[in-house]
Amino acid sequence: MTKKALITGLTGQDGSYLAELLLEKGYQIYGLVRRSSTSNLERISHLFNQIQIVSGDLLDQSSLMDVVNDCQPDEIYNLASQSYVPLSWKQPALTAEYTALGVSRLLESIRRCKPDAKFYQASSSEVFGQPDESPQTERTAFRPRNPYGVAKAYAHWMTVNYRQQYKLFGCCGITYTHESPRRGTEFVFRKITRTAAMIKLGLANELKLGNLDARRDWCYAKDAVCAMWMMLQQEKPDDYIIASGETHSVRELVECAFNCLGLDWQDYVSVDPAFYRPDEPVQLVGCIYKIKAQLGWKPQYSFQQLVELMVDRDLKELSDNP
Ligand code: GDP
Repeated sequence: MTKKALITGLTGQDGSYLAELLLEKGYQIYGLVRRSSTSNLERISHLFNQIQIVSGDLLDQSSLMDVVNDCQPDEIYNLASQSYVPLSWKQPALTAEYTALGVSRLLESIRRCKPDAKFYQASSSEVFGQPDESPQTERTAFRPRNPYGVAKAYAHWMTVNYRQQYKLFGCCGITYTHESPRRGTEFVFRKITRTAAMIKLGLANELKLGNLDARRDWCYAKDAVCAMWMMLQQEKPDDYIIASGETHSVRELVECAFNCLGLDWQDYVSVDPAFYRPDEPVQLVGCIYKIKAQLGWKPQYSFQQLVELMVDRDLKELSDNP
Protein backbone atom coordinates (compact mmCIF):
# COMPACT_ATOMS: atom_id res chain seq x y z
CA MET A 1 0.00 0.00 0.00
CA THR A 2 1.24 3.51 -0.83
CA LYS A 3 2.51 5.32 2.25
CA LYS A 4 1.33 8.85 2.87
CA ALA A 5 3.54 11.57 4.36
CA LEU A 6 2.64 15.06 5.50
CA ILE A 7 5.51 17.56 5.47
CA THR A 8 5.40 20.98 7.13
CA GLY A 9 8.05 23.42 5.95
CA LEU A 10 7.83 21.87 2.49
CA THR A 11 9.01 25.07 0.83
CA GLY A 12 12.25 25.21 2.84
CA GLN A 13 15.61 23.60 2.12
CA ASP A 14 14.96 20.39 4.10
CA GLY A 15 11.32 20.09 3.06
CA SER A 16 12.20 20.15 -0.62
CA TYR A 17 14.96 17.51 -0.27
CA LEU A 18 12.77 15.31 1.91
CA ALA A 19 9.94 15.52 -0.63
CA GLU A 20 12.34 14.37 -3.37
CA LEU A 21 13.56 11.47 -1.23
CA LEU A 22 10.04 10.31 -0.33
CA LEU A 23 8.87 10.57 -3.94
CA GLU A 24 11.75 8.29 -4.97
CA LYS A 25 10.52 5.86 -2.34
CA GLY A 26 6.99 5.92 -3.75
CA TYR A 27 5.23 7.97 -1.07
CA GLN A 28 2.15 10.07 -1.64
CA ILE A 29 3.08 13.51 -0.29
CA TYR A 30 1.03 16.26 1.26
CA GLY A 31 2.79 19.54 1.86
CA LEU A 32 1.41 21.95 4.43
CA VAL A 33 1.73 25.48 3.10
CA ARG A 34 0.44 28.60 4.80
CA ARG A 35 -1.41 31.14 2.78
CA SER A 36 0.66 34.16 1.92
CA SER A 37 0.32 37.03 -0.49
CA THR A 38 3.84 36.41 -1.81
CA SER A 39 4.90 33.06 -3.24
CA ASN A 40 7.95 31.22 -1.91
CA LEU A 41 7.45 27.98 -3.80
CA GLU A 42 10.60 28.09 -5.99
CA ARG A 43 12.38 25.25 -4.15
CA ILE A 44 9.51 22.86 -4.94
CA SER A 45 8.31 24.17 -8.30
CA HIS A 46 9.81 21.10 -10.05
CA LEU A 47 7.67 18.83 -7.82
CA PHE A 48 4.29 20.56 -8.21
CA ASN A 49 2.59 17.85 -10.23
CA GLN A 50 3.76 15.11 -7.84
CA ILE A 51 2.69 16.50 -4.46
CA GLN A 52 -0.53 17.73 -2.97
CA ILE A 53 -0.39 21.15 -1.38
CA VAL A 54 -2.68 21.47 1.63
CA SER A 55 -3.46 24.74 3.26
CA GLY A 56 -2.92 25.20 7.00
CA ASP A 57 -0.94 27.10 9.57
CA LEU A 58 0.97 26.07 12.69
CA LEU A 59 -0.66 29.03 14.42
CA ASP A 60 -4.13 27.62 13.82
CA GLN A 61 -5.22 24.48 15.67
CA SER A 62 -8.36 23.78 13.66
CA SER A 63 -6.57 23.98 10.32
CA LEU A 64 -4.04 21.38 11.54
CA MET A 65 -6.78 19.05 12.80
CA ASP A 66 -8.53 19.29 9.43
CA VAL A 67 -5.34 18.54 7.52
CA VAL A 68 -4.37 15.53 9.65
CA ASN A 69 -7.93 14.25 9.58
CA ASP A 70 -8.31 14.64 5.81
CA CYS A 71 -4.87 13.31 4.79
CA GLN A 72 -4.59 10.48 7.37
CA PRO A 73 -0.80 10.45 6.91
CA ASP A 74 1.34 7.48 7.99
CA GLU A 75 4.28 9.80 8.65
CA ILE A 76 4.42 13.49 9.59
CA TYR A 77 7.63 15.51 9.34
CA ASN A 78 7.58 18.85 11.12
CA LEU A 79 10.26 20.91 9.40
CA ALA A 80 8.49 24.26 9.64
CA SER A 81 9.74 26.96 11.98
CA GLN A 82 11.01 30.49 12.23
CA SER A 83 14.59 29.30 11.96
CA TYR A 84 16.83 32.35 11.67
CA VAL A 85 18.51 32.95 15.03
CA PRO A 86 19.09 36.74 14.73
CA LEU A 87 15.40 37.22 13.80
CA SER A 88 14.35 35.25 16.87
CA TRP A 89 15.72 38.10 19.00
CA LYS A 90 13.68 40.63 17.01
CA GLN A 91 10.48 38.53 17.03
CA PRO A 92 10.73 36.29 20.11
CA ALA A 93 7.00 35.81 20.62
CA LEU A 94 6.29 34.95 17.00
CA THR A 95 9.26 32.55 17.02
CA ALA A 96 7.71 30.81 20.05
CA GLU A 97 4.28 30.69 18.39
CA TYR A 98 5.61 28.83 15.34
CA THR A 99 8.60 26.95 16.65
CA ALA A 100 7.29 25.97 20.10
CA LEU A 101 3.48 26.17 20.33
CA GLY A 102 3.09 25.12 16.70
CA VAL A 103 4.47 21.73 17.74
CA SER A 104 1.98 21.47 20.61
CA ARG A 105 -0.83 22.09 18.15
CA LEU A 106 0.52 19.53 15.73
CA LEU A 107 0.95 16.88 18.45
CA GLU A 108 -2.59 17.50 19.67
CA SER A 109 -3.90 17.12 16.11
CA ILE A 110 -2.07 13.81 15.75
CA ARG A 111 -3.29 12.56 19.12
CA ARG A 112 -6.89 13.35 18.23
CA CYS A 113 -7.02 12.58 14.51
CA LYS A 114 -4.29 10.03 13.64
CA PRO A 115 -2.69 8.66 16.82
CA ASP A 116 -0.81 5.88 15.02
CA ALA A 117 1.01 8.31 12.68
CA LYS A 118 4.80 8.44 13.06
CA PHE A 119 6.03 11.94 13.86
CA TYR A 120 9.43 13.53 13.19
CA GLN A 121 10.25 16.74 15.05
CA ALA A 122 13.13 18.86 13.75
CA SER A 123 15.12 19.65 16.88
CA SER A 124 18.25 21.75 16.60
CA SER A 125 21.73 21.89 18.11
CA GLU A 126 20.71 25.39 19.27
CA VAL A 127 18.98 23.64 22.21
CA PHE A 128 22.46 23.04 23.63
CA GLY A 129 23.43 26.74 23.54
CA GLN A 130 26.46 26.81 25.82
CA PRO A 131 26.83 23.08 26.48
CA ASP A 132 28.75 21.55 29.37
CA GLU A 133 30.43 19.04 27.12
CA SER A 134 31.76 18.67 23.61
CA PRO A 135 30.89 16.77 21.50
CA GLN A 136 27.24 16.76 22.53
CA THR A 137 25.25 13.53 22.80
CA GLU A 138 21.52 12.81 23.11
CA ARG A 139 22.00 13.08 26.89
CA THR A 140 23.74 16.48 26.99
CA ALA A 141 21.78 19.06 29.03
CA PHE A 142 19.89 21.74 27.11
CA ARG A 143 21.07 25.29 27.84
CA PRO A 144 19.63 27.32 24.96
CA ARG A 145 20.97 30.84 24.56
CA ASN A 146 18.52 32.48 22.19
CA PRO A 147 14.73 32.57 21.69
CA TYR A 148 14.96 30.11 18.79
CA GLY A 149 16.87 27.57 20.91
CA VAL A 150 14.41 28.01 23.79
CA ALA A 151 11.46 27.39 21.46
CA LYS A 152 13.14 24.30 19.96
CA ALA A 153 13.84 22.94 23.46
CA TYR A 154 10.13 23.26 24.34
CA ALA A 155 9.13 21.50 21.10
CA HIS A 156 11.64 18.72 21.77
CA TRP A 157 10.35 18.03 25.27
CA MET A 158 6.71 18.17 24.18
CA THR A 159 7.43 15.49 21.60
CA VAL A 160 9.16 13.34 24.23
CA ASN A 161 6.25 13.92 26.62
CA TYR A 162 3.60 12.93 24.07
CA ARG A 163 5.63 9.80 23.39
CA GLN A 164 5.68 8.92 27.09
CA GLN A 165 2.18 10.04 28.04
CA TYR A 166 0.15 9.09 24.96
CA LYS A 167 2.48 6.51 23.38
CA LEU A 168 2.67 8.54 20.17
CA PHE A 169 5.47 7.50 17.82
CA GLY A 170 7.38 10.79 18.11
CA CYS A 171 11.09 11.18 17.31
CA CYS A 172 13.36 14.21 17.58
CA GLY A 173 16.32 14.63 15.25
CA ILE A 174 18.80 17.11 16.74
CA THR A 175 20.35 18.51 13.59
CA TYR A 176 23.45 20.63 13.44
CA THR A 177 23.97 23.16 10.65
CA HIS A 178 23.21 21.54 7.32
CA GLU A 179 23.80 23.17 3.99
CA SER A 180 23.04 22.82 0.30
CA PRO A 181 22.75 24.88 -2.87
CA ARG A 182 19.17 25.63 -1.69
CA ARG A 183 20.40 27.37 1.46
CA GLY A 184 19.79 31.11 1.79
CA THR A 185 22.77 33.42 1.29
CA GLU A 186 22.26 34.94 4.76
CA PHE A 187 23.93 31.80 6.13
CA VAL A 188 27.71 31.86 6.02
CA PHE A 189 28.32 28.67 4.01
CA ARG A 190 26.22 29.71 1.03
CA LYS A 191 27.32 33.34 1.37
CA ILE A 192 30.91 32.20 0.91
CA THR A 193 30.37 29.75 -1.98
CA ARG A 194 28.07 32.19 -3.79
CA THR A 195 30.35 35.21 -3.39
CA ALA A 196 33.48 33.22 -4.31
CA ALA A 197 31.74 32.11 -7.52
CA MET A 198 30.71 35.73 -8.22
CA ILE A 199 34.30 36.89 -7.74
CA LYS A 200 35.51 34.18 -10.12
CA LEU A 201 33.08 35.44 -12.76
CA GLY A 202 33.94 39.11 -12.20
CA LEU A 203 30.52 39.84 -10.66
CA ALA A 204 31.94 40.84 -7.26
CA ASN A 205 35.34 41.84 -5.98
CA GLU A 206 35.22 41.39 -2.22
CA LEU A 207 33.72 39.27 0.54
CA LYS A 208 33.04 40.75 3.97
CA LEU A 209 32.75 38.27 6.81
CA GLY A 210 32.46 38.25 10.61
CA ASN A 211 34.31 35.91 12.95
CA LEU A 212 36.65 33.72 10.88
CA ASP A 213 37.47 31.59 13.90
CA ALA A 214 33.84 30.58 14.52
CA ARG A 215 33.52 26.82 14.15
CA ARG A 216 30.54 24.76 13.09
CA ASP A 217 29.58 21.14 12.50
CA TRP A 218 28.37 21.32 8.89
CA CYS A 219 26.76 18.50 6.95
CA TYR A 220 24.86 18.16 3.67
CA ALA A 221 21.08 18.68 3.86
CA LYS A 222 20.48 15.63 1.64
CA ASP A 223 22.32 13.46 4.14
CA ALA A 224 20.29 14.98 6.98
CA VAL A 225 16.86 14.29 5.43
CA CYS A 226 17.88 10.69 4.81
CA ALA A 227 18.51 10.35 8.56
CA MET A 228 15.04 11.82 9.27
CA TRP A 229 13.37 9.20 7.12
CA MET A 230 15.45 6.37 8.63
CA MET A 231 14.40 7.44 12.13
CA LEU A 232 10.73 6.86 11.29
CA GLN A 233 11.38 3.42 9.81
CA GLN A 234 12.42 2.02 13.20
CA GLU A 235 10.18 -0.13 15.36
CA LYS A 236 10.61 2.08 18.40
CA PRO A 237 10.64 5.90 18.46
CA ASP A 238 13.81 7.53 19.75
CA ASP A 239 15.84 10.75 19.52
CA TYR A 240 19.08 11.10 17.61
CA ILE A 241 21.83 13.62 16.91
CA ILE A 242 22.18 14.23 13.15
CA ALA A 243 25.57 15.82 12.40
CA SER A 244 28.87 15.33 10.62
CA GLY A 245 30.68 14.77 13.92
CA GLU A 246 33.51 17.19 13.03
CA THR A 247 33.97 20.96 13.13
CA HIS A 248 35.59 23.35 10.70
CA SER A 249 36.22 27.08 11.05
CA VAL A 250 34.84 29.80 8.78
CA ARG A 251 38.50 30.40 7.82
CA GLU A 252 38.88 26.79 6.60
CA LEU A 253 35.60 27.09 4.72
CA VAL A 254 36.61 30.28 2.93
CA GLU A 255 40.04 28.89 2.09
CA CYS A 256 38.56 25.68 0.72
CA ALA A 257 35.92 27.50 -1.40
CA PHE A 258 38.43 29.92 -2.96
CA ASN A 259 40.91 27.08 -3.56
CA CYS A 260 38.25 25.22 -5.56
CA LEU A 261 38.21 28.21 -7.92
CA GLY A 262 41.99 28.65 -8.06
CA LEU A 263 41.79 31.91 -6.05
CA ASP A 264 43.69 33.11 -2.97
CA TRP A 265 41.02 34.04 -0.38
CA GLN A 266 43.31 36.58 1.31
CA ASP A 267 43.13 38.80 -1.79
CA TYR A 268 39.36 39.23 -1.42
CA VAL A 269 38.19 38.62 2.15
CA SER A 270 37.97 41.34 4.79
CA VAL A 271 36.57 41.21 8.29
CA ASP A 272 33.60 43.43 9.07
CA PRO A 273 32.53 43.73 12.72
CA ALA A 274 28.91 44.11 11.53
CA PHE A 275 28.85 40.35 10.92
CA TYR A 276 30.15 39.45 14.38
CA ARG A 277 27.70 37.67 16.71
CA PRO A 278 27.36 39.02 20.25
CA ASP A 279 27.18 35.55 21.78
CA GLU A 280 28.74 32.61 19.95
CA PRO A 281 27.99 29.08 21.12
CA VAL A 282 31.11 27.21 22.18
CA GLN A 283 32.11 24.19 20.16
CA LEU A 284 28.80 22.88 18.92
CA VAL A 285 29.69 19.49 17.53
CA GLY A 286 27.56 16.39 17.53
CA CYS A 287 28.53 12.89 18.61
CA ILE A 288 27.02 10.59 15.99
CA TYR A 289 27.80 7.32 17.71
CA LYS A 290 24.13 6.47 18.47
CA ILE A 291 22.70 7.11 15.00
CA LYS A 292 25.58 5.20 13.39
CA ALA A 293 25.21 2.24 15.73
CA GLN A 294 21.40 2.01 15.80
CA LEU A 295 20.38 3.21 12.34
CA GLY A 296 23.51 2.58 10.32
CA TRP A 297 23.43 6.21 9.13
CA LYS A 298 26.52 8.27 8.38
CA PRO A 299 27.10 11.31 6.17
CA GLN A 300 27.86 10.43 2.55
CA TYR A 301 29.54 13.77 1.79
CA SER A 302 32.72 15.07 3.47
CA PHE A 303 33.25 18.78 4.26
CA GLN A 304 35.54 19.13 1.23
CA GLN A 305 33.00 17.42 -1.08
CA LEU A 306 30.20 19.64 0.21
CA VAL A 307 32.20 22.82 -0.43
CA GLU A 308 33.10 21.61 -3.94
CA LEU A 309 29.51 20.68 -4.72
CA MET A 310 28.18 24.06 -3.62
CA VAL A 311 30.87 26.11 -5.35
CA ASP A 312 30.27 24.16 -8.59
CA ARG A 313 26.53 24.70 -8.38
CA ASP A 314 26.84 28.43 -7.65
CA LEU A 315 29.31 28.83 -10.50
CA LYS A 316 26.99 27.03 -12.90
CA GLU A 317 23.89 28.92 -11.78
CA LEU A 318 25.61 32.29 -12.10
CA SER A 319 27.19 31.43 -15.47
CA ASP A 320 23.79 30.32 -16.84
CA ASN A 321 21.98 33.30 -15.39
CA PRO A 322 24.29 36.15 -14.29
P1 GDP B 1 24.04 29.48 12.28
O1 GDP B 1 24.51 30.55 13.21
O2 GDP B 1 24.62 28.15 12.62
O3 GDP B 1 22.57 29.46 12.11
O4 GDP B 1 24.64 29.73 10.82
P2 GDP B 1 25.37 30.94 10.08
O5 GDP B 1 25.77 30.39 8.77
O6 GDP B 1 24.51 32.17 10.07
O7 GDP B 1 26.68 31.26 10.96
C1 GDP B 1 27.68 30.32 11.18
C2 GDP B 1 28.87 30.97 11.87
O8 GDP B 1 29.58 31.77 10.94
C3 GDP B 1 28.54 31.88 13.06
O9 GDP B 1 29.38 31.51 14.13
C4 GDP B 1 28.90 33.28 12.59
O10 GDP B 1 29.43 34.10 13.62
C5 GDP B 1 29.99 32.97 11.57
N1 GDP B 1 30.13 34.01 10.54
C6 GDP B 1 31.27 34.64 10.20
N2 GDP B 1 31.04 35.55 9.24
C7 GDP B 1 29.72 35.48 8.95
C8 GDP B 1 28.90 36.18 8.00
O11 GDP B 1 29.35 37.03 7.25
N3 GDP B 1 27.57 35.82 7.98
C9 GDP B 1 27.05 34.85 8.82
N4 GDP B 1 25.75 34.53 8.72
N5 GDP B 1 27.82 34.19 9.71
C10 GDP B 1 29.13 34.51 9.78
